[in-house]
Parts: sequence; C-alpha cells; structure tokens
Amino acid sequence: MKHDFATAIKRFYGGVHPDDRKKLSLQNAIESISMPERLFIPLHQHIGAPSEPCVKTGDKVFKGELIGSSQGFVSSCVHAPTSGIVLGIEDHVAGHPSGLGQQCIVLEPDGNDQWHPELTGLEDPLNASPAQIIDKIRQAGVVGLGGASFPSFIKMSPQQHQSIDMLIINGVECEPYLTCDARVMEERSEEIVESIRIMLHALGIQNCVIGIESNKPGAIQAISKAVEKTPKISISVLPVVYPQGAEKMLIEAVTGRQIPAGKLPIDFGVIVHNVATALAIRNAVLFGHPLINRIVTVTGLGINRPANLEVPIGTPVQALIDHCGGLKRDVKRVVLGGPMMGVAIHDFGVPVVKGTSGVLAMLEQEMHIEPEQPCIRCGYCVQACPMHLVPCEMALRARHDLIDQLQDVNLLDCIECGSCAYVCPANIPLVHYFRYGKMAMANSKRVNEKKELTSQRSQAKQNRMEFERAEKERKKQEMRLALAAKKTEPVT
Ligand code: SF4
Ligand code: SF4
Repeated sequence: MKHDFATAIKRFYGGVHPDDRKKLSLQNAIESISMPERLFIPLHQHIGAPSEPCVKTGDKVFKGELIGSSQGFVSSCVHAPTSGIVLGIEDHVAGHPSGLGQQCIVLEPDGNDQWHPELTGLEDPLNASPAQIIDKIRQAGVVGLGGASFPSFIKMSPQQHQSIDMLIINGVECEPYLTCDARVMEERSEEIVESIRIMLHALGIQNCVIGIESNKPGAIQAISKAVEKTPKISISVLPVVYPQGAEKMLIEAVTGRQIPAGKLPIDFGVIVHNVATALAIRNAVLFGHPLINRIVTVTGLGINRPANLEVPIGTPVQALIDHCGGLKRDVKRVVLGGPMMGVAIHDFGVPVVKGTSGVLAMLEQEMHIEPEQPCIRCGYCVQACPMHLVPCEMALRARHDLIDQLQDVNLLDCIECGSCAYVCPANIPLVHYFRYGKMAMANSKRVNEKKELTSQRSQAKQNRMEFERAEKERKKQEMRLALAAKKTEPVT
C-alpha cells in the first residue's frame, strides 16, 4: 500500500509500514533439505577481501575443513559444508546475486557428512580469555547473517579507546515475508541466550537487549522464557516499522542513541549482532564448528509450499525451490532476500551464501508494477528516509550522470532500504538510481586514482630526465674545466 508512513510510537525518523506477509511461513518449523549433488561455495561471501582457495582439484575434504583462507584483516574464511571431493575452482556464472559471477569452489559431497576430526571448541568459555573467544569466531568464518555479512570477530574486538556498554541482539527481521530469524528465536532460544552470555563475557559488559518486533509472538514468548533467569539480558518489544532492523535504526529505537553518518555503533558504546549470527558464534566457540549452513525462508505466493529451510552454504537456489514443491506456473519474479532490499535473480543455479536470508517467489498481484512518471516533488521520499537524505535529489543527479555532485547529497549514506521507492507516487525506481550512482562514483574514483597515478609517474619521469640532463651538463662542464686547467699548466 502506498503513502503508508510509519505512525507507531518509535524513536527513529522516517520508515514505512509495508504489509509484513509473514503469515505464509511464520508457523513453519525449520526443516533440513537433502544434500545437493554439487555445492558451489563462493570465495567472497563477506565484506572485505575475498578469501584465497587453500585446496585444489581432486582434494578430499572433511566437513568444516578450511577451503578458503581469509586475506587481510577485513576478510573471512570459508569452510566445506560437508565432506567430499573438490571438483574444481572456477568462475561460476551465477556465483553472485549480482549475476556477475565469481570464483567458487565446486564440491561433490561424498554422502558421509564426516566432520573434520580436529575441530574443537572451548571447554569453559566463561572462563576463557576474550582473545580465545574472538579467535574461535574468526577461525569459524562467522559473518553477520542479517544481510551485511561483516566479519563478526571485528565487531567483537573494540579498540582501547572504544568503551562498550551494551550488546544488542537483532531479532527485528523487519523485511516483509522473511521469517528465518523468527523461527531461530522460537526454536533455538536457549542456544541464543547461551551465546549472549559468552559474548557479554568476551566484551566484559553486563547489559544485553534483544530487540524483537511485536509481530513475532512465538519468538517473544520463547526468548522471554529463555532469559527469565538472566537479569543481564532483557527484551525490547518494538512496534513494527520498516527498516527498524537496520543497525542504526535499531540502536536508536532501543537506546535513543543516534549514530551520525560516517560513525559506527561501536563508537557509541554499542555492538549489534543478528540472532542467527549469535547462534553461529555459539557453535564456533563451544564446538569449533564453522559457519557452513544457514536458515533460509522460501516464501511468496509463487512457491507451492513456503518453508524455513536449514541449508548448506553453496546449495543452488533451485534445490530449495524443488524442496518446496517448485514454483507456480504464473510466478513473475524470484528475489534473493526480501521484497524491499532483495535482488531479482533469473538463474536458479545461484548458490545460497552466508548472507542469503530468503528466496521470494512473487506473483503479479504481490508486486507493484506501474510505469515510471516524472517526479512531482511531493517530498514523500524525504519523509520516509530514515537516513535524513533527499532521495529525489539524489536520483535526479544519478539519472543525469552528475557523478561529481552525488557526494554533496550524501549518496554513500544511503542504506538502500527502499523506503523512499515504496512511498513514491511516481513509481520512480529510486534504489536502482542509487545503486547506479554508487557504482558510477566508485568507477569515477578509480579513474581519478588512475589519472593521478599516471600524472605522478609522468612527473617523476620528467624530473628524472631533467636530473639526468643536468648531471650530463655538470659532467661536461667538469671535463671542460679540467681540459682548460690542463692547457694552462706551465710547460716544464
Ligand atoms: S521522487 Fe517520488 S516521492 Fe520523491 S519527491 Fe519525487 S515523486 Fe515524490
Ligand atoms: S534514500 Fe536510501 S536510505 Fe533513504 S529511504 Fe531511500 S533507500 Fe532508504
């Protein structure tokens, strides 16, 4: 529904109220799927540098074995989701939701699902040092499972000048349709609380709030029961507003603290982890188990049997669709993620990665397909933007390729939540323009850097040539002087 602004009592600015459509899969318990014939495990599933393959074609690997090692500090490693044979390391055409393709390790499962024998956890994590806990999280390749895929060990490692006083666990799941986090909270609440205790110990703090929107009564009940005897952990039941699950919005909703553009939550004493990430952290610390599977919601009116599935990373989306009884004949669009921030896919060979929260199959009636009209300067998009941006102006500049002027309207602060596009009466696909603008800015930065490098090199060459010319001249002059001195020497 259009022009439906967030009106509930809440703290952050902007936001919208799309129909949550969670009923389709909210009551469906998490199921496992059978192991596919091939897994395509991308080496770049996280923010930061891609991992480097550390196996070769023909290698036999165990479940949980390291197959891609992290490169540099902001990076994460990748592990085998099951035991099997490495068939190759290749550019899988559908290796990324962007459709650009990327390097994947292709693994043929051997059917034994045999864990690596050397994986061990910490026996008594509540008496372990923070460094030991953080190292387990790093080794396990845990990244944020809410979609951002930022390496979790970095969030758990505040600098000395950053004083943390609160951990927030993000159980908001504000994106319509998605229910994987709600099911995790309902079915694995004790494990989440166990993980929170470990994280509080590692961070040396005493205060954790779990934020959950009020449209998840099952999750609220389960988590409330699990935290009953732990006074350090409380629950904040929040009104349903999109995009409350975005980190900065959630912090403002729970604590009232505003995180300005360019700053991180950690600068304001807060660390936020998604509920599924908390579960992955627990498995890493207690058992040494790496992040090799995740829960994915398969939903929408276009799928025959909506479900919440626990799937190995690298499973092609087609396998999830097949498990759910296939697509309906008149399906119009399939999206990875939710309807607000997801990316449409056309090749169902795309594998599930650590950040894949949903597969959404939509019929025409679920979509809003209207022709784009000229902007009428109504300002609805400005009212809806939780980042205090002026979306109409950003789109105008991106559309006219005024790349140099995009920085002035803070395009890079846009979190691509889609709230502005949702309320736009002119049906302008604003987020597409923003993605295009960001790409153009990155390209222009690269071109400028290249130009700068070329000019530095040419200047250096010119300096060198001038120096060599001057040297030559100096030597000639010395020789001339020596010759002249020789000629004037008295003959004895
Ligand atoms: S972009 Fe859309 S919402 Fe924004 S001012 Fe223009 S018409 Fe209104
Ligand atoms: S401009 Fe960006 S952050 Fe603001 S509402 Fe639009 S998509 Fe969201």
